[in-house]
Amino acid sequence: MAVMDLDRVPIDEVLRYLGAGGKDPGPLLPLAEDCARELLAAARPRWTWRGFGCEIAPEGVRLDCGFLLPGKDLADHLSGCREAVLLAATLSPGVDALLRRTQLSDLSRSLVLESCAAAAIEEVCDRAEAAIGERYPGRGFTSRFSPGYGDLPVTIQGEFLALLDAPRKLGLCATASSILTPRKSVTAVLGVREPGAKAAPKAKSCGSCSLRGSCAYRRRGITCGRE
Ligand code: SF4
Repeated sequence: MAVMDLDRVPIDEVLRYLGAGGKDPGPLLPLAEDCARELLAAARPRWTWRGFGCEIAPEGVRLDCGFLLPGKDLADHLSGCREAVLLAATLSPGVDALLRRTQLSDLSRSLVLESCAAAAIEEVCDRAEAAIGERYPGRGFTSRFSPGYGDLPVTIQGEFLALLDAPRKLGLCATASSILTPRKSVTAVLGVREPGAKAAPKAKSCGSCSLRGSCAYRRRGITCGRE
């Protein structure tokens, strides 16, 4: 388990989530910067991971510990990979508390804070991925793919977290309906590319975005442009 000293939230990502990417943000910029500062003060980011051998099987991706990540979409995503990394990261309960308080007192600010939290957990995952990459020199990863995306069932969250000992190490759990608590957390699978394998362009995607369940873009059948 690693504790991360997160010192910045990528404001361009925050603005993109808010629908102001590539435009003049006007007064949204100072508001986003202020919310980012408040979020960083509340966050205590932590993350953990484990590497596994894996086999692409007709029913999904089978890890060498015997755990099955079911479905075709992740199997396609990890095509050609013989190793996979399971990653879990959280911003901590303090961020959930901040969001709950702000929802009651200032709904517009809470929407900006939600976007700051989404950008922050992505940043935590990016930095965690860079640190894990040092253990796989010359390899590289596929983009992150989370339970609940495509046909990878969200109901595996509990077992996924147990494999990483995340409840004990991070205080990160899943409810009976497989919602992560703290809420601003991510679990994701990354395929480890074989040495010399041609890396496909690695676009960021909805596959691990923490806004996925409530995304206004996706409700309209579009994306924020991250993919
Ligand atoms: S769920 Fe997808 S479209 Fe929505 S904010 Fe996240 S990356 Fe963008």
